[in-house]
Amino acid sequence: MSVPLLDVPAQNAPYQEELLDAFKRLVASGQFILGKEVELFEKQVADYYGNAVYALGVSSGTDALLVALMSLGIGEGDEVICPSFTFFATAGSIARTGATPVFCDCLEETFQIDWESAKGCLSEKTKAVIPVHLFGQSVDMAACEAFANEHGLAVIEDCAQSMGARYEGALCGSMGAFGALSFFPSKNLGGLGDGGMVLAQSEELYDIALKMRNHGMHPRYYHDFIGGNFRLDALQAAFLSIKMRDFDVSLSKRASNAAFYQAHLCDVEGLVLPVDSPSAPHTWNQFTVRVLNGQRDGLAEHLRSAGIGSAVYYPVALHQQACFGEWDSPVALPITEKLCGEVLSIPIYPELTEGQLAAVVAALRSFFRV
Ligand SMILES: *Cc1c(COP(=O)(O)O)cnc(C)c1O
Repeated sequence: MSVPLLDVPAQNAPYQEELLDAFKRLVASGQFILGKEVELFEKQVADYYGNAVYALGVSSGTDALLVALMSLGIGEGDEVICPSFTFFATAGSIARTGATPVFCDCLEETFQIDWESAKGCLSEKTKAVIPVHLFGQSVDMAACEAFANEHGLAVIEDCAQSMGARYEGALCGSMGAFGALSFFPSKNLGGLGDGGMVLAQSEELYDIALKMRNHGMHPRYYHDFIGGNFRLDALQAAFLSIKMRDFDVSLSKRASNAAFYQAHLCDVEGLVLPVDSPSAPHTWNQFTVRVLNGQRDGLAEHLRSAGIGSAVYYPVALHQQACFGEWDSPVALPITEKLCGEVLSIPIYPELTEGQLAAVVAALRSFFRV
């Protein structure tokens, strides 16, 4: 049985009719940029957050991070701390403002930012920190808050992989000055293209971000500052709005898939399973295992030949990327570098059938001969 890492058509199939109806409605309306559909979707997301945030639809998760940084006035001469073990966009968006990303290490057990290591990254230029809720699980936000408060830093939560995740009951994205969501098709809420959302904690920051999304323009053709075109398409908002209704159901399917793996793989030696936590319950955007003893690439190849998809998130740490070569991290990053050689993500998407889950388990077990 073949099991892809992700099955986007299977995820959208139940919504086919509704999506096509929305498409027809939008084509007839001719209203493609922002407008009512985007406002309705923003309201739906703000409601999901218990109206603890202001929600602003933007063109992608990357642009959500960029809008947040630009709205805080971060740029040339500033430093922003972020983990090295994350997707490129976290650091790329910092660098695009003219600021310098300063990379810290992460924790082996949870893959999340190591706050001890972050301390070593501080300088008088540090303006903000971006905790990344990696793979679907919240960062230790109590530690984040203590760190940010002690050093007077703004917090931008990168929630691209973790919409719906919580820390001590609070939704990711509602704890920092800003949160950034992504609706890339592989994320917890996947669109039919690119999309993202800025979550702002205060009305003041929301107002700045709102203008930033549209060239810093307000009123029309008057620009107090330089923004960009970071607008969300009406079509995308309409599609996302349809899928949003079942969002919590999709998260519970991810959780039961993860529970299946935990139950059937916990005894495999040489394989370290991801950990859940009562204070930070996982939303399982990825199910990322660590493969010990240099066997990761062998396991990936074994799965491939059994028709099972897998991927390495991430094979190269950000501090080792050619484009960031000029910036030496002030701290060593041994855990990040080790994880790049050990991690492997296996299929976890909500639409997996029991047969597919069993096939993944069987292929994994046969590699370890158990
Ligand atoms: C996907 C992702 C982003 C960027 O989101 P896009 O919508 O693809 O631009 C940013 N940060 C992390 C951690 C991501 O996984």
